[in-house]
Amino acid sequence: MTRTVGTRTVGILGGGIAGLTLAALLAARGHAVTVYEQDRAGGKLRREQAGGLSFDTGPSLFTFPDVWRAVLARLREPDPLDLRPLPGALGVHHTPHGPVPLPVPPGHALLPHWQRYVRAAAPLAPFLGVLLTTPPRLNDPAFLRASAALLRVTGPHASAAAWLRARQLPPALEHALATHALNAGLSPADAPALYALIPALVGADVFRPAHGMGTLLDALRRFGEARGVTIREGAGVRALSGTTLTLNGGEVRRHDLIVSAVDPARLARLRGQSVRPGPRTVSGVAVYAALPTPTPLPATSVIPPDSFRDFRAALRAGALPHTTLTLVHADGPRLAVLLTAPPTGRPLTADHPWVQGQLRRVERILNVPGLLDSALGTVILNPAHYARGGHPGGAIYGAALPALRGGPLHPQPYRLTRDLWQVGTGVHPGGGLPAILGGALIVDRLLREAGW
Ligand SMILES: Cc1cc2nc3c(=O)[nH]c(=O)nc-3n(C[C@H](O)[C@H](O)[C@H](O)COP(=O)(O)OP(=O)(O)OC[C@H]3O[C@@H](n4cnc5c(N)ncnc54)[C@H](O)[C@@H]3O)c2cc1C
Repeated sequence: MTRTVGTRTVGILGGGIAGLTLAALLAARGHAVTVYEQDRAGGKLRREQAGGLSFDTGPSLFTFPDVWRAVLARLREPDPLDLRPLPGALGVHHTPHGPVPLPVPPGHALLPHWQRYVRAAAPLAPFLGVLLTTPPRLNDPAFLRASAALLRVTGPHASAAAWLRARQLPPALEHALATHALNAGLSPADAPALYALIPALVGADVFRPAHGMGTLLDALRRFGEARGVTIREGAGVRALSGTTLTLNGGEVRRHDLIVSAVDPARLARLRGQSVRPGPRTVSGVAVYAALPTPTPLPATSVIPPDSFRDFRAALRAGALPHTTLTLVHADGPRLAVLLTAPPTGRPLTADHPWVQGQLRRVERILNVPGLLDSALGTVILNPAHYARGGHPGGAIYGAALPALRGGPLHPQPYRLTRDLWQVGTGVHPGGGLPAILGGALIVDRLLREAGW
């Protein structure tokens, strides 16, 4: 049945970046949109205070900005973010075989191997935007061409680890590239081969808004509110039946259309459905520290686990890895240390021996002893925190999809019923900003085609 487009009411569950993006897109097409957010809008991107400084938590690297530009084009808005290239791009990767800056700069001993790796990934580069923003449909020639390019480049390799092994790269470069399986929230042997190509596809195009990632949140709020979106903060949804939702305080609201922008496992619970346990993506312990003086560290340092095999075994067992994959972002006196942790929903605090041990490892490897001891204040977000707003175990990218469903080739469950759809991290493989912004564009287009 085709419907005529007119003002209809849309309820969006969850005011993270995905929910806010879709809210603005739907409101721009004339819908009356209300976003229900149990906490503050922003989700994983939230502003926290520590030691007199403000921190934008969650995403720190803005990659594939063309997807953001596609959102702006659909909203007919100029870009308010003033994206600036991040010095050092993907950063120095401190592998057990030696440090590797990515991209590998001219004059570096690994340059010929890096160039060989980039050449192998290059045929996919023109198609990545299509894969991120086009509904995965086998009758769409643009999607088919992009998918064919992906298959040609990834070849028969099922995982990022297998693809890298086949390239026969020097161990330091292979280890550094393998860390980017984290973009799928998985260890390299579990992440689809596409994730081994991320450093080549991103190259030096790593950005951050001039005034911090929080300006992305401000912009999306503004775009929505200017088009009539109501954002209800502190309005947690307790149950969903059809298109009727019940808020925590007992208030009942009915909409013509519901879009969930919360983790699919959370949505299932709201609908009274049981959730099948299964493999999940990683969680994390994020430490944001205000230091008395600017740190002497580069903008981004990546500290991989010593052994990806041990790291994977620990994550699969829900145990704390002996050495974990850690990202360190330094921005003047602001320091962010992001430790990868299993998605067990545990409240790992700063004084937990494992957290202490990993932080000491960071100080040792980066040669900055006592760095965190001098902090004027810290904020720590752990798997228990991520579980409160996202996947029940705090898995940052939700459930792990089986390898064949993990790539962009497989149709995702955007449409659950005629009037219940979903967006957000948990339904877009590798649910970082490009995937969720692209996912909002895809869902907006599919809804339009379905007459909404
Ligand atoms: C430490 C860390 C580092 C990261 N680094 C990067 C990076 O460098 N680059 C990048 O691109 N991405 C990065 N990411 C990923 C990125 O932050 C996420 O993909 C993105 O913020 C997820 O947005 P979302 O809207 O899909 O989900 P969320 O942000 O999880 O939003 C879901 C919202 O739903 C709300 N909610 C849940 N249940 C209910 C309910 N019952 N009723 C009402 N509201 C509800 C929650 O409170 C939350 O606000 C990082 C994430 C983390 C945690």
